[in-house]
Amino acid sequence: MTTFHSTRSTTDSLTSKQAIRKGIADDGGLFVTDSLGETKVDIASLTGKPYQQIAAEVLGALLPDFTEAELAQCIADAYGEQWSDRRITPLKPLGDDYILELFNGPTSAFKDVALQILPRFMAHTTPADGDTDEKIMILTATSGDTGKAALAGFADAPGTAITVFYPQGKVSQVQELQMSTQAGANVNVCAVEGNFDDAQSAVKRIFGDKELAAKLAADSHVVLSSANSINVGRLVPQVVYYFSAYAQLLENQVINVGDEVEFVVPTGNFGDILAGYYAKMLGLPVKHLVVASDKNNVLFDFLTTGTYNRQRPFFQTISPSMDILISSNLERMLYYMSEGDTRLISMLMNDLSQWGTYEVPEPLLAKIRHLFGCGWADEDQVREMIADCWKKNRYVIDPHTACAYFVAQQMPRDPLTPRVILSTASPYKFPRVVNEALGLDADGTDFECMDVLSRETGTTAPAALHGLETADVRFKDVVPIDGMEDYVEKAAQAL
Ligand SMILES: *Cc1c(COP(=O)(O)O)cnc(C)c1O
Repeated sequence: MTTFHSTRSTTDSLTSKQAIRKGIADDGGLFVTDSLGETKVDIASLTGKPYQQIAAEVLGALLPDFTEAELAQCIADAYGEQWSDRRITPLKPLGDDYILELFNGPTSAFKDVALQILPRFMAHTTPADGDTDEKIMILTATSGDTGKAALAGFADAPGTAITVFYPQGKVSQVQELQMSTQAGANVNVCAVEGNFDDAQSAVKRIFGDKELAAKLAADSHVVLSSANSINVGRLVPQVVYYFSAYAQLLENQVINVGDEVEFVVPTGNFGDILAGYYAKMLGLPVKHLVVASDKNNVLFDFLTTGTYNRQRPFFQTISPSMDILISSNLERMLYYMSEGDTRLISMLMNDLSQWGTYEVPEPLLAKIRHLFGCGWADEDQVREMIADCWKKNRYVIDPHTACAYFVAQQMPRDPLTPRVILSTASPYKFPRVVNEALGLDADGTDFECMDVLSRETGTTAPAALHGLETADVRFKDVVPIDGMEDYVEKAAQAL
């Protein structure tokens, strides 16, 4: 029986459904299972399989307490017509490399891969204390992409509701409209007077407020939960696209069964790349996983020195979804790389919260570096790479993907090992920055920038993004930081 416990202790024994519903362990650790890798995915049989079938095999190995029928239903609903490419995550040649597009979902960012299916997983979980009226209210502070992807996933999902806070005036026009026009009877969107950190800290306080929790449960049968990538149900769907990439390389006869592949991954919270490590443990022939960071290069420093130090300046960059100083999912990698040493992990995480820094033992660092490469790009390099990729390949990339593209250009190339660059957002989510990088007109609204980008590159904006210009704005609320808790309570009462 596969059970889940914290990265910091072995006392819990939860099914994957319970771990998904609970989100994070009581001691602050992340849920992991020691059965990971006991069931392998059959690589030889991948060729020609559609994404949904690969998902059934991979998720079946990772979430064994879901029945085959439950998973099939979740997969069919999550990876259907709302994706603009029937391959879901199509692999395309890019010069001597390959690019894996993760942004063809409803909100045009890679978070859709996980957030389209997480609400469907949640619908198959049941309340711990047997309150069958219980509803889960997802609470999220967002700097842009996560909020919209979570809204799109949870809108009208049975047994759930969602409230999203974003910093007023600090998200792009497209991002704000993506959220404020969201349809669904169970969604709430509210701007906050403050920056993202203020909003994020307030959300954490609300999660920790026992009195509020008791009141929400008693008055409205509501429990609060989080949709960020510490939830195991958000992590495992991402393992699938690594297998899908491999299947497409096999199908195009770039590789033979068993050949190793290298992945270059734009990552901040270490979620995107950790999924690649899980894929390797499930039997995927992965030679290297290369971490690509932006100017917030805390992961680069860690992987080169063994010291993780969050006490550093925070940069707000043109790749906002990777602007992160605390890379939560690193904890899961450290757990597996240290052979499940919960005492070590617990000590390191204690150091991090107490001193803002920790250092891993040298043998552990050597082991990590054997698999994980790293690099980072500053903002000028990001702009240069957007231009370079367009010039060399006639392919437009977004600023997050450009970090990975840059790191790939810097690495020595092994001609025998195909390299896959993961692409995490449509360039049309950041049309102003992309136009500036390409030397195109970037003066007008985001929508005018989209039109220019489309005309000058012969590419098409995702219909959902373009349609925002004329969509009805449903949410105009703005609250001060100390009004957020009240907003949550009212939202719960209205359910
Ligand atoms: C969230 C996000 C990332 C980073 O994902 P991690 O889970 O932090 O690894 C990269 N690019 C885009 C566009 C994103 O939205």
